[in-house]
Amino acid sequence: MRNVYMTVELEAIYDQTVEFVKREVTPHGQDWEAAGMVPRDVLRQMGSLGMLALRIPEEHGGLGLGMLASATFAEALGTSTFAGFDVTVLVHTDMAGPHLFNSGTPAQLEQWAPGVVNGQTILSIAVTEPDAGSDVAGIRTSAKKDGDGWRLNGSKTYITNAVYGDLTIVAAKTDPGNKYGITMFLVPAGSDGFTVSKKLDKHGWRCSDTAELVLDNVWVDDSQVLGTVHRGFYETMKNFQNERMVLVGMGVGAAQVALDLTADYCQNRPAFGGHLFDKGAIRQRLAMNQAKVDAVRASMYHAAWLGDQGIDNVRAMSGVKAWGCEVVNEVMYDCLQFHGGIGYMRESVIERMTRDARILPIGGGATEVMLEEVAKRL
Ligand SMILES: Cc1cc2nc3c(=O)[nH]c(=O)nc-3n(C[C@H](O)[C@H](O)[C@H](O)COP(=O)(O)OP(=O)(O)OC[C@H]3O[C@@H](n4cnc5c(N)ncnc54)[C@H](O)[C@@H]3O)c2cc1C
Repeated sequence: MRNVYMTVELEAIYDQTVEFVKREVTPHGQDWEAAGMVPRDVLRQMGSLGMLALRIPEEHGGLGLGMLASATFAEALGTSTFAGFDVTVLVHTDMAGPHLFNSGTPAQLEQWAPGVVNGQTILSIAVTEPDAGSDVAGIRTSAKKDGDGWRLNGSKTYITNAVYGDLTIVAAKTDPGNKYGITMFLVPAGSDGFTVSKKLDKHGWRCSDTAELVLDNVWVDDSQVLGTVHRGFYETMKNFQNERMVLVGMGVGAAQVALDLTADYCQNRPAFGGHLFDKGAIRQRLAMNQAKVDAVRASMYHAAWLGDQGIDNVRAMSGVKAWGCEVVNEVMYDCLQFHGGIGYMRESVIERMTRDARILPIGGGATEVMLEEVAKRL
């Protein structure tokens, strides 16, 4: 067993996922990076293997597992070395998906769950706007009641999976007198007035598609309200710990691969009559990084376990999001350093992994915001 929280089922999820990415992702990732997208076939294949349904309740065709399963899955995806692929999957399964299954009505779940499970319907969640990221209450997209539906107006940015995805969960202000008066809406791609104004060009995560969106008088009927009117802010918060966790998980999986690659490289790279690994400065820094990655991994699984027990894990998870994502970046920095010039070349794996890691301390709760969550609970 890899750690005390593992069960036979979780180990099988880890092994199956690592095996899948090794076979179906890593060999093709470079082409997907160039195309700026993950082919839908791969996501459908994952769907057919049950890999998109770990967190989905059994009555909707899923496995009904908890946070430990998501942590395991995210860590295993991280071994792909293509974090853009990892996040494409995790936005669907662990960032957007939980809102649908936590708040969806029986009719909404009947309509959408089968496609979400089998990978035919790829999800995105649109909260961030040009003027409001960390401060979710600052969003300006509005939804106004109009007969038996709503009119949505505004814009969203940095939305993962929204260029090629099928269904977006859109956050909009519905109570102008209350800054937390937000409602979530299910908006299918192709709805009148709902357009991708720009496919964004990113520093890393290049095979993940990221959209800027415009909502121009988009009409949705009442059946497309997800959850309770004006309560979307609080309902979204229910999934925050899970979102934070999977970003750490994919980072830990990637950091371990980066360390393994770098140790191997240094053991074989001739220098000064021996190999780079003979140098104490290098060997010890890699060893310290390994110790940090082990600690982040253990903290993440512990915070996941707390969540699965129903114990408040906000301090634990915010802390590991803040610290863990910084550690992943320190590891990538050192791994690139010890690769020398080749580490700076586009052809090297470590160059891509270093770029990919940079977003981890920004997205899904920036380090500073996470530390405020911890500070409030000191
Ligand atoms: C590649 C990518 C994919 C994304 N995918 C999605 C998605 O699918 N859906 C979605 O809704 N959003 C998505 N986002 C948005 C992401 O969650 C935000 O970028 C993030 O929340 C930060 O918001 P911001 O960019 O507006 O930065 P700001 O909120 O303007 O913050 C800028 C910086 O200021 C600092 N800061 C912020 N607040 C504080 C504070 N209270 N105290 C101290 N320092 C602070 C942090 O260092 C932060 O990085 C994505 C972003 C990227 C880049």
